[in-house]
Amino acid sequence: MDAPLVVVGGGPVGSTLGLMVPGSLVLEAGSFPRDKPCGEGLLPAGVEVLGGAGVDLEAAGYPAIRGIQYRAPGAPVARATLSGTPGRGVRRLRFDSLLAARAGVRSGCRVLGLRQLPSGVEVRTQEGVVGAGAVVVAAGIGSPLVRQLGWERARGGAQRFGLVGHLETDGGDGDIVVTLLPSFETYLAPVGAREVLVAVLGPRGALRSGPGGREARYRSLLAAAHPELAGARITGPIWGAGPFPRPVAQVSSGRIFLAGDAAGFLDPLTGDGITAGLQQAEFLAHALGDDLPSAAARYRRWHRAQWRRRRLVGYLARQLSGHPSLTHRALGGLAARPLALERLIMVSQGTSGWGALGAADWAALLNWGRR
Ligand SMILES: Cc1cc2nc3c(=O)[nH]c(=O)nc-3n(C[C@H](O)[C@H](O)[C@H](O)COP(=O)(O)OP(=O)(O)OC[C@H]3O[C@@H](n4cnc5c(N)ncnc54)[C@H](O)[C@@H]3O)c2cc1C
Repeated sequence: MDAPLVVVGGGPVGSTLGLMVPGSLVLEAGSFPRDKPCGEGLLPAGVEVLGGAGVDLEAAGYPAIRGIQYRAPGAPVARATLSGTPGRGVRRLRFDSLLAARAGVRSGCRVLGLRQLPSGVEVRTQEGVVGAGAVVVAAGIGSPLVRQLGWERARGGAQRFGLVGHLETDGGDGDIVVTLLPSFETYLAPVGAREVLVAVLGPRGALRSGPGGREARYRSLLAAAHPELAGARITGPIWGAGPFPRPVAQVSSGRIFLAGDAAGFLDPLTGDGITAGLQQAEFLAHALGDDLPSAAARYRRWHRAQWRRRRLVGYLARQLSGHPSLTHRALGGLAARPLALERLIMVSQGTSGWGALGAADWAALLNWGRR
């Protein structure tokens, strides 16, 4: 079993790369269908990458996401319209299976180790050794393979965590709704005709379960942000996630590349993780056609710019959420100038640079001049 490209991990990023590179071999440790804690909101830029790979999420029945709302108690609601291609609510149980099936992922085959040789990469799997011309590790957050390569970076600063669950409802109004509360945030996305996902994000202390266990804690946090969902039926397990962020020291060297969460994870609050990973897959699908040392160098530069942009957007979002007076001022400014929020979301998903935000947009975001 040999292949010009071996992709480790058949999540959305690995599967999409597999779809884009004919002849590649995608090896997945688990089997489908399988679930994964996620906010399940795919931004328009991610929908477009998949469209380019021949995956039509509208035709496959994934609900449209037409706007993103930011709200806080007592503050005006700021809403950005996603004009053009809508985002999609991607219930991971179905979405990951769809992509894996299209990419012909080989399930039940865990990769145990990688060894770079002058002419290729030796991929050690549960089923034997595979020879690869190049390897992309798309094995998710905190992959042991990244640790083995010595590319992990020590985590510093405050750690954040998540609790994720699904609820039966009328499916919401087609918007992602982010609720900023003083000690945690919630992120709601419509993921089915009668189902929404709600992720609760915050420091460990805010999310820690009491005597009633994880579900009781989830329900009490949910009720603070969405009282209308207090009695809604929870349709599956409540997942824990974190800690975040999980940066890496390096994303490529020689014939080995990292993509998706394996190439570093920031914070779920901005809901851009899958989109960023799909954009990495798209970049790599083109770059791997070049000679590999130059592809590795180009990917490092491109990834560094993407990471910096995402980190700054994430930083802004987290600053807003942690400071109630700033939250109120910023939401007031953004509610009065939705264009500023729309431009910020374009920057967040990589379809515009920071230059798209003019002085009036920054003034709205920071709400300068208002008392
Ligand atoms: C709480 C939370 C909320 C989020 N909300 C959003 C959101 O709203 N929108 C968004 O876009 N993103 C969101 N994200 C981020 C998103 O979930 C990830 O960015 C996305 O899953 C990354 O996809 P991936 O393919 O890189 O990794 P994964 O989806 O983790 O897939 C990795 C795959 O690799 C396999 N694997 C691991 N090790 C091996 C091995 N050794 N051999 C073979 N296979 C292996 C695993 O079994 C898995 O199937 C959220 C994340 C969290 C935690």
